Amino acid sequence: MAYDPNNVFAKILRGEIPCDKVYEDEWALAFRDIRPQAPVHVLVIPKGAYVSMDDFSATASADEIAGFFRALGTVARQLGVAEPGYRTLANIGEDGGQEVPHLHFHIFAGRRLGRMVAKPE
Ligand code: 5GP
Repeated sequence: MAYDPNNVFAKILRGEIPCDKVYEDEWALAFRDIRPQAPVHVLVIPKGAYVSMDDFSATASADEIAGFFRALGTVARQLGVAEPGYRTLANIGEDGGQEVPHLHFHIFAGRRLGRMVAKPE
């Protein structure tokens, strides 16, 4: 899938839409999800224009990949959720349930998070 520069996270990165920012560095931006599904629900996105994990892993530079995943861990520590724990989740593509076509990792925390994957209804 080609990257759509008008997706909502691209607009957030350009400052065209506000966000509740919790962290930013050269490689990543983290902000609170607008519809939180846990007491802590933060989205961490790379600054580059990547749709998916396969896209990112195949085409991002080593510095971008390292910087992004270091940021993901930094955000979890900064949120104070490393203990008692949290979940990271990246929905990719149609079957993955991805709504926004800019790669993003959810960080969920603040309660017992239940089983890993819900069964289809
Ligand atoms: P996905 O289903 O693609 O993995 O997750 C997209 C997430 O983005 C959803 O949890 C949704 O609530 C969140 N989201 C969509 N639009 C906005 C927005 O404008 N601002 C913020 N902060 N979150 C958004």
